[in-house]
Amino acid sequence: MMGLKRYHIVVFLFMGSVLLSHPIFAKINRVDSLRVWPSPTSTRVVFDLAAEPEYTYFPLTNPERLVIDFDNTDKKVDFSQFDISGDLIKNIRHSTPKHDDGIRVVIELNRKAKPEIFAMPPTEPYGDRLVIDLIDSRPAAPQVVLDRTQNQRDRDIIVAIDAGHGGEDPGSIGPSGTYEKNITLSISRKLETLINAEPGMRAVMIRTADYYIHPNRRPELAREHKADLLISVHADAFHSPQPRGASVWVLSMRRADNELGRWMENTERHSVLLGGAAEVITDKASERYLTETILGLSMDYSMATSYDVSESILRELKKVTKLHKRAPQAASLAVLTSPDIPSILVEVGFISNPQEEKNLNWAKYRQDLAESLFTAVSHFFRKTPPEGTLWASQRAEQRTHKVRSGESLSLLAQRYNVKVSSIKQANNMTSDMVRIGQVLTIPRI
Ligand SMILES: [Zn+2]
Repeated sequence: MMGLKRYHIVVFLFMGSVLLSHPIFAKINRVDSLRVWPSPTSTRVVFDLAAEPEYTYFPLTNPERLVIDFDNTDKKVDFSQFDISGDLIKNIRHSTPKHDDGIRVVIELNRKAKPEIFAMPPTEPYGDRLVIDLIDSRPAAPQVVLDRTQNQRDRDIIVAIDAGHGGEDPGSIGPSGTYEKNITLSISRKLETLINAEPGMRAVMIRTADYYIHPNRRPELAREHKADLLISVHADAFHSPQPRGASVWVLSMRRADNELGRWMENTERHSVLLGGAAEVITDKASERYLTETILGLSMDYSMATSYDVSESILRELKKVTKLHKRAPQAASLAVLTSPDIPSILVEVGFISNPQEEKNLNWAKYRQDLAESLFTAVSHFFRKTPPEGTLWASQRAEQRTHKVRSGESLSLLAQRYNVKVSSIKQANNMTSDMVRIGQVLTIPRI
């Protein structure tokens, strides 16, 4: 026993001295792949590495470049084999390294971009990474934003659609390898098409392609676009294959109180949140009280609205899928933290359930899901259109008709020159049946 112990100590000392005196035994890192994710405002470059990177970096101008030195890294990586999409990055190449045991990588840029660099530990399906966000000095032109605060009549109802995850964040991964980020983007695009085909409604996509946006940034984008509603689309996952079905999430009351508190502390945000109201508040002493009251009111409105929309969505979703939870669920999720915009998160199903993963990979099924979301949202806004919208003025002008003997829905639709579906929608009807004496709302379109 003594002998064995001594042997261990000797080996330990020997190994220690070798590691200290011969850097050749230090762990050698390796770049396994390179991914580039362009977005309208920034481009993310991700180096997939065999181990945690040791790195330094510096920018160069004329022409614009970013230089990254990876220490203790194998030289055998050919950057020309990787796809460099987008128009911000011109080329990624090797240069003479600072030390013999490392590599120097040069990212050549077409224009100025501010780098934000950080290492990420392994998370499914990736290993160690070095992430570089290049904030574009000339971002793509934003979608046209109409100012809700200006005196516009008959504006569109704006629905912000947030496709969950994106870029190197795949979200949950199904048993056959389906990425949640692709499912959420596909459903979101289908919903966008339906909304944009509806007069008086307009969709704004928070994420337009395969790139990452921080969860805190998503409600900010919805606010910048003056959204009346934010719908975040996700697919659930569990560590066992059994759970299935859809659920809808709203901001939890407890989180809401904390969020309101947090927003209150961030005084710079007040004017943005309050719109015109902030300018009226000049007295510093009363500012906090007033702000709290106004914000509290808009939060009450947005939370009540979120809950109502959620119920409407659950009613529609259950026609196409099983429900995991029959009532709206309360959660503390970053994407739901807008105090002023009704926000909901829809989990369309469990990607971890093999059957639901199969369904979600079927375009027709995704279309059905998008249609049920659209029907729910349009029903909700037909009943309670936001002030100043086309739908609000249409509602104010609506006519009524008392059904007489021999009249059918199609006859009335013809007489008033509207679609049967519009009459059904305005009256929340599920069948074409009408009864004598029934008073119907006749919409203008
Ligand atoms: Zn998700």
